[in-house]
Amino acid sequence: MKKKIAVIPGDGIGPEVMKQTLRILRFLEEKFRHEFEVEECLAGGVAIDKEGVPLPDHTLKTCKDADAILLGAVGGPKWDHLEGTDRPERALLTIRKELGFFANLRPATLFPAMKDACPLKPSLIEKGLDLMVVRELTGGIYFGEQKTITEKNGKKSAYDTMFYHEDEIRRIVKIAFEIASKRKRKLLSVDKANVLESSRLWRKTIIQEAKNYPDICLEHMYIDNAAMQLIRDPNQFDVMVTGNMFGDILSDEASMITGSIGLLPSASLDADQKGMYEPIHGSAPDIAGQNKANPLAMILSAAMMFKNSFDLTREADIIESAVEKVLDEGYRTADIYSENTVMLTTEEMGQQVLDTM
Ligand code: ATP
Ligand code: MG
Repeated sequence: MKKKIAVIPGDGIGPEVMKQTLRILRFLEEKFRHEFEVEECLAGGVAIDKEGVPLPDHTLKTCKDADAILLGAVGGPKWDHLEGTDRPERALLTIRKELGFFANLRPATLFPAMKDACPLKPSLIEKGLDLMVVRELTGGIYFGEQKTITEKNGKKSAYDTMFYHEDEIRRIVKIAFEIASKRKRKLLSVDKANVLESSRLWRKTIIQEAKNYPDICLEHMYIDNAAMQLIRDPNQFDVMVTGNMFGDILSDEASMITGSIGLLPSASLDADQKGMYEPIHGSAPDIAGQNKANPLAMILSAAMMFKNSFDLTREADIIESAVEKVLDEGYRTADIYSENTVMLTTEEMGQQVLDTM
């Protein structure tokens, strides 16, 4: 199978974790006779340094022409003095908007070997933890009208508008139903329909859409209750779908109950399976260049790419099983190291996954 992949290593530890991921890509390419046309391009701080802008036109074009995008991380203290559209992070927002990546998928998986990292009571996670948060990414209050008004007396007021069109709701909940149908056939929709008009439209729309998925059990919960229930008993949930702001909060909460920022991947998708895949962590400038970063979140992001964009579930499973086995055998990078485990560098961890595969 021939696939074009735009690769954006980015800043900080981005290039280090990407290097290990590309080794794994090459291995799978050879083993299963795929053809992955990898085009590396600049975005973020490195692009500002070399070309003066966070997202050069040719990078955006490469992303548009690709079947999928792999992204390391962008940003760092070197560019903290910049503002607005000059900032490295702008590259991500522009790619999301220009390519219409409206669906953000954030799995929160607790690997059996990592139970000690979970801040919840052991009895709550006996069966492990495997959640998927599906967040609407290009609408809602982050993209509605906003304004600050200064009165004659100098005092100020400000507003943000939470706006959703039913088509925007329908396309994201469809993706959530599809994901739920491949998992436990259980979907939780999170809103604030007791207070917000846009949430009432959200709920009405998802109930309508549910008629097309009669075998999925759909439930609803208000955001405040959902945030609480996630800590009280996370295993009552499987797939959760929600709007932009609630999803921002819930996905961070869900990932932190697994306790391992260096282990979690994410995907941002359009309606045609094209997507951008990146670890949930940032560029970690404090450990950049030290061969210390955990490459597993980036490697697992590639597994998500195989599954979601290329329908290559076998390849995704091989990666995921290898990562699980490496952790089971006690191999760790510094961020997840504990007593009685073996500490590896970034390079060694990449090699360990490859050997296991
Ligand atoms: P961003 O704003 O880009 O999300 P951030 O400020 O949230 O960035 P990160 O860059 O994610 O922060 O780093 C947070 C902490 O987690 C840092 O101490 C960093 O070293 C650590 N960290 C992040 N990713 C990894 C990783 N892959 N391996 C090891 N440690 C990591
Ligand atoms: Mg962050």
